[in-house]
Amino acid sequence: MTDAQTHAQTLFSRARAAQSQLAVSTLSERLAELGQLQQRIHQQRDQIADRIVADTGKSRTDALVSELLGVLDYLQWLQGAAPAALADEKVSTPLALMGKSSRIWYEALGVVLVITPWNYPFHIAMTAIAPAFAAGNAVVLKPSEHTPLTGLIESLVDGLPLLSAALQIAQGAGEMAEALIAQRPDRVSFTGSARTGRRILAQCAPLLVPVDLELGGKDAMLVFEDVDLERTSAGALWGALTNGGQSCTAVERLYVHQSRYPEMVSRLRDRLDALVVCSGDTGNADIGAMTTDFQLEIVQRHLADAAAKGATIHGGGRIGDTRMLRPALVTDVRDDMLVVQEETFGPILVVQPFQDEQDSIRLANSTPFGLSASVWSKDLARAERVARALRVGAVSINNVMLTEGNPALPFGGVGESGYGRAKGVEGLRGMVRSKAVLIDKQS
Ligand code: NAD
Repeated sequence: MTDAQTHAQTLFSRARAAQSQLAVSTLSERLAELGQLQQRIHQQRDQIADRIVADTGKSRTDALVSELLGVLDYLQWLQGAAPAALADEKVSTPLALMGKSSRIWYEALGVVLVITPWNYPFHIAMTAIAPAFAAGNAVVLKPSEHTPLTGLIESLVDGLPLLSAALQIAQGAGEMAEALIAQRPDRVSFTGSARTGRRILAQCAPLLVPVDLELGGKDAMLVFEDVDLERTSAGALWGALTNGGQSCTAVERLYVHQSRYPEMVSRLRDRLDALVVCSGDTGNADIGAMTTDFQLEIVQRHLADAAAKGATIHGGGRIGDTRMLRPALVTDVRDDMLVVQEETFGPILVVQPFQDEQDSIRLANSTPFGLSASVWSKDLARAERVARALRVGAVSINNVMLTEGNPALPFGGVGESGYGRAKGVEGLRGMVRSKAVLIDKQS
């Protein structure tokens, strides 16, 4: 056996032993520990933010708002929602079964393997661990090798008797992840690229291990002619550039009604010039550093491809030999450019005009991805009509990325953006299996 296989076996045997203890715990005991965790995260927010900034290079604002606040909101929601979502249910019984009663019991799966990416290392890990544990599962977490947050989550759960035993953390890359999957977890909750998602599916299929795949995106923002461009241009740049564009739901494609297109491009250019790019631990950055060298290379390759095929690039460029990139707008694009078809995952926004409602829908639905999108118009009936026609798992009207900010909403994609739903009641129910029960009162 390799070292990774031996380690995976040890972690799974610990997790399975802890799960048998969890099986006799109550939901309120588990929620009480999650409540204590919430308090600790709140009290230690500055140290946690420092740690996230150090591991990722993102700006402090991004660390606090998108990672920490998101986790606190999620834990708060879970306290209120879990008792109802996980409670036994009584359902109707048909006439043919008169005199009997029907129930659904929601039971823990066992051990859930959570595999996470580097772009929101704290948020994604915590919002997968918490519902799995609340539902009575043990969890094995494998964070990204690029942002291991070594020791951070362990120290936050230290002294919480159920949670510290139920959570096992495996550091490592693909080889470690494969060794963990070979231990036949009861579910794999994966967040990452479509490429890795396919490999995981291929490994899980013969083992009949169920998988949730939260994959990449190429989100579109559709702007109609009746909007306030001051607000809309600010929203577009926030959606494109928050977390340095390294968000699965970043706005990567901005489609603007042709009558407002020139004005929108000019406003975006003005705003872009005012943004501060610097590493997250120095100064008040609007945009921090890219987290990895390989992501920096992908962004530069996409821009070079666009330029070679005739696009106009406004802004952009690497700052010295750092991992910091100035944000860029890309206009005059063609469908065969990488910036139009593939996930770029950097501070880049492609801007294109559209002619009418049908054209906007066609453009938005023109990639294999389908994570989220936004529609901007004062005419809410039109905005809703367009929103319904978009092939995505989430849509915001007159704002961006808002669905992720509400833990009560399900989160997940369509097509190459994956399947399964995290968050919301649907996400919580994904961490249990239902047992159908029929009780005949006569014995
Ligand atoms: P990645 O697929 O390279 O890695 C993700 C995780 O998979 C890491 O922990 C990695 O070690 C692990 N891994 C690598 N090889 C593996 C293998 N053979 N078997 C099992 N696991 C393996 O993704 P990344 O570069 O870390 O993250 C960026 C991607 O994640 C982007 O595509 C982004 O859009 C996506 N993402 C999606 C969501 C979402 O909720 N839909 C959220 C954040 C990021």
